[in-house]
Amino acid sequence: MNQPVDAIVIGLGGIGAAAVYQLAARGANVIGFDQFEPAHSHGSSHGASRIIRQAYYEHPGYLSLLLRAYELWRELEHDSGDNYLLQITGGLYLGAPDSSTVRGSLQSAVQYLALAGKTLIQLTFFHLGVFHQDFPLFFGVTSE
Ligand SMILES: Cc1cc2nc3c(=O)[nH]c(=O)nc-3n(C[C@H](O)[C@H](O)[C@H](O)COP(=O)(O)OP(=O)(O)OC[C@H]3O[C@@H](n4cnc5c(N)ncnc54)[C@H](O)[C@@H]3O)c2cc1C
Repeated sequence: MNQPVDAIVIGLGGIGAAAVYQLAARGANVIGFDQFEPAHSHGSSHGASRIIRQAYYEHPGYLSLLLRAYELWRELEHDSGDNYLLQITGGLYLGAPDSSTVRGSLQSAVQYLALAGKTLIQLTFFHLGVFHQDFPLFFGVTSE
């Protein structure tokens, strides 16, 4: 028990647990502390599901981090034997054409092509009338 410790991580939510996991995977001797026994329901990471997005309208600067995060989720699926940790779906953003949501999504998609070296990313713009046909769930949504 007297081995030297390379790192101590306080808080084992999503961020702390990932840090412990990645440090240990690199051969570091790590100790993690939490005020509750993991996995508990008192942090912000608890719950049955969480989303991760590549359509990141907030800023295209996040994209390289996001692409790496997807790789790491796939690695975690492989290492844990759980192939359903990451389920890829489409994403739907609603906004006026000149809104930061729509403009930012477009900017991220363009940046994504450059970063990921992809030749195709499917990006569909819906006019409000067509949108209501394809997504009747959002029937009350207006252009405001
Ligand atoms: C309702 C909700 C939904 C969210 N949904 C998403 C989502 O879908 N996708 C997404 O990417 N992000 C989502 N987020 C944001 C995301 O959950 C947080 O950014 C992320 O969980 C933060 O991780 P964390 O490890 O920093 O914090 P937490 O997960 O809260 O972990 C902090 C840990 O530190 C421990 N701790 C705190 N103080 C001490 C102490 N003094 N001593 C020891 N341990 C301590 C806590 O017990 C806890 O385990 C959501 C957040 C909330 C609140």
